[in-house]
Amino acid sequence: MKLFNTLSGQKELVETTKGKPLQFFVCGPTVFDYSHIGHARTYIAFDIFVRYMRSKKQKIVYLQNITDVDDKIIDRAKLFNEHPLHYAHKFETFYKKDMESIGCTSVTRYARATDHIKEIIKQIQTLILKGNAYFVEDEGYYFDITSFPDYGKLSRRTALQAEDAVTRIDEQIKKKNKGDFALWKYVSIPKHEHKKKFTIIDGEPAWNTPLGWGRPGWHIEDTAITERWFGPQYDIHGGGGDLKFPHHEAEIAQQESASGKVPFVKIWLHTGSLRINGEKMSKSLKNFLTIRDFLSQYSKNVLRIIIAMYHYRTPVQWSDTLVEQAVQTIDSFLGTYDALSFSESAHIKQTQNIKKQWEEIEKTFKEKFETAMDDDLNTPEAIAALFEYTTMIKTIVWKISKSSSKKSKQTLAKALEILGIDVQKYKIPQIINKLVKQRELYRGNKQFTHADALRNQIDELGYTIEDTPIGPFVRKKVS
Ligand SMILES: [Zn+2]
Repeated sequence: MKLFNTLSGQKELVETTKGKPLQFFVCGPTVFDYSHIGHARTYIAFDIFVRYMRSKKQKIVYLQNITDVDDKIIDRAKLFNEHPLHYAHKFETFYKKDMESIGCTSVTRYARATDHIKEIIKQIQTLILKGNAYFVEDEGYYFDITSFPDYGKLSRRTALQAEDAVTRIDEQIKKKNKGDFALWKYVSIPKHEHKKKFTIIDGEPAWNTPLGWGRPGWHIEDTAITERWFGPQYDIHGGGGDLKFPHHEAEIAQQESASGKVPFVKIWLHTGSLRINGEKMSKSLKNFLTIRDFLSQYSKNVLRIIIAMYHYRTPVQWSDTLVEQAVQTIDSFLGTYDALSFSESAHIKQTQNIKKQWEEIEKTFKEKFETAMDDDLNTPEAIAALFEYTTMIKTIVWKISKSSSKKSKQTLAKALEILGIDVQKYKIPQIINKLVKQRELYRGNKQFTHADALRNQIDELGYTIEDTPIGPFVRKKVS
């Protein structure tokens, strides 16, 4: 499989060693609010990547950090008069629930920043010893970007731009260089609290450490966490495109300076943004859509297919038309699956000619799907292959044998599983079966007006009916 490496600007083969799991880290959320569809865009894309690797029997350890100490959290917790860590952990729970509800279940381990204070301090101490970090009175420790000549090699720049995600503009006058970033932020503690290990001063959490009282900067938590769980070098790092600079650039500077080992990460993956009706999503533009809001109207299948319809590096252009298109796509895929179930339940004699056609359809799809996914996770191409497959299968679905139907169901279910799309599991209710039988009687007596009325009734109850050579095919409509 090839992936586009931001660091080299090229598609590169993912190197795997037999028996050794791939190490994959993705920047997790800063937990101060509900997750929105922009977060879903990044996490669904990486979830599909991990699902695909696992479907190929490639072991992969997926690590994600949780930023549970940060200015945004402190400000919000103060606003609601809450303990900053309790506040963060409440939203961490919401985040995990949201991820589960959209099928992002592939993370192996979540790691909180506040559970890694010891590792953070150790890494900063190394950077001080090596001359990469310096102390500013009353402020804390900063990374000196001039001590790392490779600074800028990932994003090919060393200064901020408008689209960069920043947690805080570390603009202290006493810094050596404008771009230097905070590693450890001092918090001033009253004398009577000095013997404690942890305290909260004016809503700001602070830890008592060998570097003095304070809290970690944003960038250092990731490298302290990955060094603990993966070591100083690992395979793949993913994140939103807005994290390239300064966040990921800072991670490289920290870890490569601390260990002296290059490269820190072999492959860097970055997702494109999500735009709503051509605009950036933001609370002030009132086009802010949380995952919860979306799921109150549509299923997770719809959200996941929308994300997969775009290549992970391309910006998602969200609109109502796109959502409608996604609903239809899901309906078409799941409709084929249901049709296969119906065909499986009948005992159809398959001709040699149909068998040949069926084999060809299966072979073509498997090749196209895998080729697309192996080419830098080209999910739009993979979906095009699925479209072609389901369309072709539908042309012969009432002519194939029980065993062919069963195998096609497995093929389809496997591809949908990689995209994280669930097939509908349901039983046709008694009332629907009764109406279907009644309709068959009307049709037998050529009472078509009555038959049509029943079709409408079935439709209103959320089911569709299609007359096929093997009898009436009834299925539940997708939501
Ligand atoms: Zn990060």
